[in-house]
Amino acid sequence: MAERSWSFSNVFQSMFRGAEQITEDTWDDLETALISADFGPEITDAILGELRAQVDRHRVTEVKELRRMLRESIEERLAAFDPTLHLSERPAVILVVGVNGVGKTTTIGKFARYLKTFDKKIVVGAADTFRAAAVEQLATWADRAGVDIVRPQQQGQDPASVAFQTVERAKNDDFDIAIIDTAGRLQTKGGLMDELSKVRRVVEKQSPIAEVLLVLDATTGQNGLAQAEAFIEHAGVTGLVLTKLDGSAKGGFVLSVQQKTGLPIKLVGQGEGIGDLTGFTPHVFAQQLIG
Ligand code: GDP
Repeated sequence: MAERSWSFSNVFQSMFRGAEQITEDTWDDLETALISADFGPEITDAILGELRAQVDRHRVTEVKELRRMLRESIEERLAAFDPTLHLSERPAVILVVGVNGVGKTTTIGKFARYLKTFDKKIVVGAADTFRAAAVEQLATWADRAGVDIVRPQQQGQDPASVAFQTVERAKNDDFDIAIIDTAGRLQTKGGLMDELSKVRRVVEKQSPIAEVLLVLDATTGQNGLAQAEAFIEHAGVTGLVLTKLDGSAKGGFVLSVQQKTGLPIKLVGQGEGIGDLTGFTPHVFAQQLIG
């Protein structure tokens, strides 16, 4: 997917501006920058340790060189995860899960539009049946993206039955991809996880599930991660979508989220418009973050 620049706070840009020689202050500034960009204490320590060792080993003295090493270290850590989307099944069934408000519905709209540019035939399923507004919102996005939608016949219809009908539709009408929206009411965590398990069971009887994408709001940082744990434990997540990176000063979250979950970031959302979704490229990301 096309890349676009992120608008992170320029903690790194300002820390690397001015000074030419590495001093003890450089390390203090770097630690502060890493923590404030939400890399988290463990990754911050790991990066600092690695860079200090490299600087000693190669007798590096210039801040400019340290910056390059930092960029490479971040890129390498990001590249340890494979961001490939597996969509070769026909139909490729994608479940989209996550807490309400993170940007699930918007992501589905943007993703459907993106996939459509490759001449894929797409249907979306509104399996968040509890909130009428959620169904309407998905219908609006489906309309914008120019894709079909399967919606519940009545409010509160069993989400698994809507998921079933979506996959049926995809199989019968020869669609390439079925993207299923799911509920995200965290107040009823146990109930929600049971509901998602049922959706998965029902769908798996019809077709293998190509991807279960967990959507996370990058602006919530480490808190968002805590909320997502239940999904990772119970929903068979295969990859992450990070939304609202356009509004986030927390670029380091990208790194810590992969490391902590062990899951690759497959898509990033960078705005509310239909074109504001891209794939994830470690090289570009590290460059944007560190400069
Ligand atoms: P859902 O409850 O998870 O389905 O969340 P929605 O798709 O309704 O999105 C919640 C809010 O986040 C809406 O106001 C969206 O416009 C906004 N949103 C979603 N993705 C992004 C993004 O990548 N960037 C920004 N700035 N806003 C986003």
